[in-house]
Amino acid sequence: MALLRYRFLYMEDTVFGKIIRRELPAEIVYEDEETLAFLDIEPVSPGHTLVIPKKAVRNIFDVDDETLAAVMRTVRKISPAVRDSVGAKGVHVNSNHEPEAGQVVFHLHMHIIPRMERNAFEVWPKTTYASEEAKDIAARIRKELS
Ligand code: AMP
Repeated sequence: MALLRYRFLYMEDTVFGKIIRRELPAEIVYEDEETLAFLDIEPVSPGHTLVIPKKAVRNIFDVDDETLAAVMRTVRKISPAVRDSVGAKGVHVNSNHEPEAGQVVFHLHMHIIPRMERNAFEVWPKTTYASEEAKDIAARIRKELS
């Protein structure tokens, strides 16, 4: 019951829930039973599209395998159309999970961002590991998984 209530409130409270229920306008480009895709209102580049599940999940930390698979199926299906609609050469497919990682809307979404040329903007500034740091972090991840 608590979970149902949480889900209901959560759907009410995100803009993407409102788009799913057609309470907010959006440029919808694709829809199936489990997913919806529409243009991002503040595009990183023209054609920037968001793919969301219709099910209310917050992000990668609570999504179930089936829902994520449905989202990724849609990402795969529409990426060529997004790319070709703006004459792009490639796309970024990325996603933010929790505020520290840049998540602003707390309904899982994948960004498909068309890329016309390589150096037009920087998405991921690169860093390097100090010695032994990579070994140490990899060991910690393996331990968490075991
Ligand atoms: P994120 O920072 O990964 O949570 O991304 C949220 C994205 O949702 C941003 O790129 C916003 O521009 C986009 N966004 C917010 N509100 C709307 C809306 N009403 N319609 C379309 N995109 C939206």
